[in-house]
Amino acid sequence: MDDNKEKQKQQQQRVVVCGGGVIGVCCAYFLAKKGAAVTLVEKSSIACAASGKAGGFLALDWCDREPISELARASFNIHRSLALELDGTQAYGYRPLHALSLSLTEKIQNQSPAPTTSSSSILPTWLDGPAKDTKTIGTTETTAQVHPQLFTRTLLSSAVATHGVEVIIGEVDQVRLEGGQAQGVVLKGRDQVIKADAVVLALGPWSCRLPLLSTLFRVFGLKVHSIVLEPRNPAAITPHALFLSYYSVQGGKPIDPEVYPRPTGEVYICGRSVETEVPDDPEQVVGDPESIKELQRVATSVSSQLEEGETHLKAQQACFLPCTDDGQPVIGEMPNVKGCYVATGHSCWGILNGPATGAAVAELVLDGLSSIVDLSPFSPARFVGVRKQ
Ligand SMILES: Cc1cc2nc3c(=O)[nH]c(=O)nc-3n(C[C@H](O)[C@H](O)[C@H](O)COP(=O)(O)OP(=O)(O)OC[C@H]3O[C@@H](n4cnc5c(N)ncnc54)[C@H](O)[C@@H]3O)c2cc1C
Repeated sequence: MDDNKEKQKQQQQRVVVCGGGVIGVCCAYFLAKKGAAVTLVEKSSIACAASGKAGGFLALDWCDREPISELARASFNIHRSLALELDGTQAYGYRPLHALSLSLTEKIQNQSPAPTTSSSSILPTWLDGPAKDTKTIGTTETTAQVHPQLFTRTLLSSAVATHGVEVIIGEVDQVRLEGGQAQGVVLKGRDQVIKADAVVLALGPWSCRLPLLSTLFRVFGLKVHSIVLEPRNPAAITPHALFLSYYSVQGGKPIDPEVYPRPTGEVYICGRSVETEVPDDPEQVVGDPESIKELQRVATSVSSQLEEGETHLKAQQACFLPCTDDGQPVIGEMPNVKGCYVATGHSCWGILNGPATGAAVAELVLDGLSSIVDLSPFSPARFVGVRKQ
């Protein structure tokens, strides 16, 4: 079949993608780019959950000893090429950056900057808190960042403008099945079926609200807090992502907050996780005040540039990592349900792995096989016969 005929055939494929987080949007983008007629259904708003509140850190080789290694490497490279295509005007703040690990003790109020005991040559000057054991763990060749909400929304805008993706705000209630084949989705509270040849379910930590998925595997949410600061002097903050072991003066185990300066001049800090019930409405996910205060104390300890008075607290928030029982994402066609695909469970690497997931799902749905990444380790079929909680 020549290229034109193949494209025409694929153009006839109607695909409904459910979920407007980074995974759903990446699937919609690559499916539409490959010629499918795509409708994306989102319950609340695009990137309203983890995909809008994540750090946006990307790493080429940090997952190298894990099953997601190939996915992560492919995705890191697709991020780079997407940025050349779509982020020329810094629409979503893609940039390579350095990454450092260090340990830090809580700074007591009015304490003057403590002398550091690490190799100070690699420390950026704005990091004037009591840092120890600083190591370089990523360079501009191997680590980068995006603003995750802007990335997700920019990608969708491009998919709408260039490839005709249709967006519907509505809640998917169930997948319409006939003879073991997906026929489309039914929206909650509406007498409406969106008909399709294939359905992609990318519902993040809400995946198991659909019995079709929860009877096979579990996706649970791990709630993580974050703050976004606007420092008075953003020019002083260099592109260094910081991975901390942070010791509070009250003792106890250290926590592992992460600090990401962004090209927008903001500084994003996340940490403090807890496994808890995921509320139905993504807009109802809020941070608990004690965790937010602790992240503010982390900011103060990292840099005098991030102390109260030197910064404006732009956002205090929380969101859920979508986690699976075996720690791996679930990407592939549902066993015994032809035309129903799932893409979820990306845990703490969904922003990194979104593009390769989307490109691989597009190939799987339209060509029957993914050549970009071997998806077999992530198949939902691995849960068949496995007893779950
Ligand atoms: C604090 C924090 C920091 C992070 N930092 C990073 C990072 O630096 N780098 C990185 O790679 N990853 C990071 N992650 C992980 C990343 O954010 C997630 O893996 C990713 O956002 C998951 O995307 P998703 O599309 O699967 O889910 P979500 O973003 O949760 O999107 C799911 C969407 O589905 C919608 N939905 C749910 N039910 C329905 C329904 N019935 N009908 C229609 N729509 C529905 C929801 O409204 C939501 O918009 C971080 C996560 C957290 C929590």
